[in-house]
Amino acid sequence: MGKVASYLQSHLSGEVFDDDQMRKRFSTDASVLSMTPSVVVYPRTTNDIRKIARFSWQLAEKKHTLPITARGSGTDQTGAAIGKGIIMVFPAHMNKILELDSQQKLVRVQPGVNFKSLQETLQTHGLHIPVFPSSYKYSTIGGAIANNAYGEKSLKYGSIADWVDKLEVVLANGELIQTGRIGRKEIDKKKGLTTLEGEIYRIVDAVLSENDDVLDEYYDKLRVTKDSIGYALADVRRRDGSIDLTPIFVGSQGTLGVISEAILRAEPYNPKTELLVAAFESFDNITEVVTRLRNLGPSMIDMVDDNFLEFIQQQQSVNLPENLKSPDYKPSFLLFVEFDNPGKAKLKKAKQAMKIVKAYTDHCLLTNDFDEKEQYLIIRHATSEVVNYHQGGKASLPIIDAAAVPVEYLFDFIQMIYRIFDKFKLPVMVWGHAGDANLHVHPFLDLAKLTDRQKVFQIMEEYYKEVVKIGGTISAEQGDGRIRVPFVKLQVGDKMLDLFKIIKSGFDPHNLLNPGVKIGTDPKQLGEALRKEYSLAHFADHLPRT
Ligand SMILES: Cc1cc2nc3c(=O)[nH]c(=O)nc-3n(C[C@H](O)[C@H](O)[C@H](O)COP(=O)(O)OP(=O)(O)OC[C@H]3O[C@@H](n4cnc5c(N)ncnc54)[C@H](O)[C@@H]3O)c2cc1C
Repeated sequence: MGKVASYLQSHLSGEVFDDDQMRKRFSTDASVLSMTPSVVVYPRTTNDIRKIARFSWQLAEKKHTLPITARGSGTDQTGAAIGKGIIMVFPAHMNKILELDSQQKLVRVQPGVNFKSLQETLQTHGLHIPVFPSSYKYSTIGGAIANNAYGEKSLKYGSIADWVDKLEVVLANGELIQTGRIGRKEIDKKKGLTTLEGEIYRIVDAVLSENDDVLDEYYDKLRVTKDSIGYALADVRRRDGSIDLTPIFVGSQGTLGVISEAILRAEPYNPKTELLVAAFESFDNITEVVTRLRNLGPSMIDMVDDNFLEFIQQQQSVNLPENLKSPDYKPSFLLFVEFDNPGKAKLKKAKQAMKIVKAYTDHCLLTNDFDEKEQYLIIRHATSEVVNYHQGGKASLPIIDAAAVPVEYLFDFIQMIYRIFDKFKLPVMVWGHAGDANLHVHPFLDLAKLTDRQKVFQIMEEYYKEVVKIGGTISAEQGDGRIRVPFVKLQVGDKMLDLFKIIKSGFDPHNLLNPGVKIGTDPKQLGEALRKEYSLAHFADHLPRT
């Protein structure tokens, strides 16, 4: 064991590793990038996190840099769960549900708790967190908070940010703070502190007070339902002048602080839903039909295109009634529309939805039967088949899969995707949250080939330019990570980017927390970090075992 690892091991209660095997195991996440850490730590307590942060800060004061990357299950697709310094892996020990108050519908958790286990525990109390990423079986709540995760029910229930009540956060220098909304009097008290927390409140207050014009210009014209770019400055200060740092930490991808505990709000769990499945011959009316359906308040409007459907039907046996797809009827896409209102309201809404859909297609059905719903949703949930797909050296790459546009441009968005894939002569499958015009698409490329490696950057550049042109966001469902950093300015402009940089340097003056994520990675660095192969086959190895 090297000097750093043995020093850390002698001061921490969790395990420390610096052998090649462990460093390699944590050198990839679910992105196309790779970075080998110097040290891997399984923190056991908040005190361990504080000691690591303090150690890294003290080294920085002596001009040695050893940055910190917090990590849940490493399912991040943007290269935000890898780093060159110390990787802190939370699922190993800090994986507990600490307190559940089913009356108040609040749950206090450690960051490494598995999202699925949390959901199952909540469900036994008649509760759940209605927003969850499709990777929830494998990922942690800390990762979901740090990525401000978004899921199939986000159309109705927002993103994880809407379900986080308070956070406990270890700051870059090891200080421990609690977030929550505070009024002017308390803000002034915080601003008077000589600590890093005091400095953070001074900077956040100044940035928000002095840049109304920049913030208004950006947020007023933003018409997407979710934007994960940079830091969520719009949600920090209310009209009454109160400030809550929670929204700024949510979605910050470990670049402003390390979450050591979280209190989340839960909702009554209602598994009884009505599901409408409809098959449309062409995309021509997609914007109109989705806009009309949105007005009914469904909990989901998701879609898969016909290429996705065909692929899934080749991979597994999927029973679709002839009405939806047959040799005589080949749809362009399927819509899955779900209503979860209490009591009879959901059936009423679902019937109204059916009436709307029938104006465009007769190829539709409505069901509330659990097994029948599963039979259709298996298609929508088959994303992992696509993202895991390999053929020869080619793999399905997550490089442009988190963008969204204003819903009124849904049709234009889909056309743009097909146009770009056609130009690059690549097969295309489109799926995602049509209700929020938040769609996924993965180019199928071989990272061992120079021409395909070049295409990665050409496709990103062209795609992101087009997304911004239609008024969209390049980072909707997931954050900027490393992969999208070179394109952030394209969307937000110089002034807003400067505000993000001021925030980052206020929270993390030595640039120790996940450096290069959200801010500071250029295309050359991306090129150097681009993997030579891409696969999620090794994925289970990422999950620490104790
Ligand atoms: C097949 C597939 C489907 C996906 N579907 C979705 C989806 O539907 N919606 C969605 O939003 N995402 C999705 N993702 C992305 C990712 O799985 C989720 O965002 C997930 O919530 C990340 O959790 P994790 O535990 O894997 O976090 P990690 O990947 O380990 O980390 C994610 C980010 O959180 C930071 N982080 C982790 N723990 C902490 C902490 N304690 N303090 C501070 N920062 C921390 C990391 O530094 C990193 O920046 C998908 C990924 C895959 C591979």
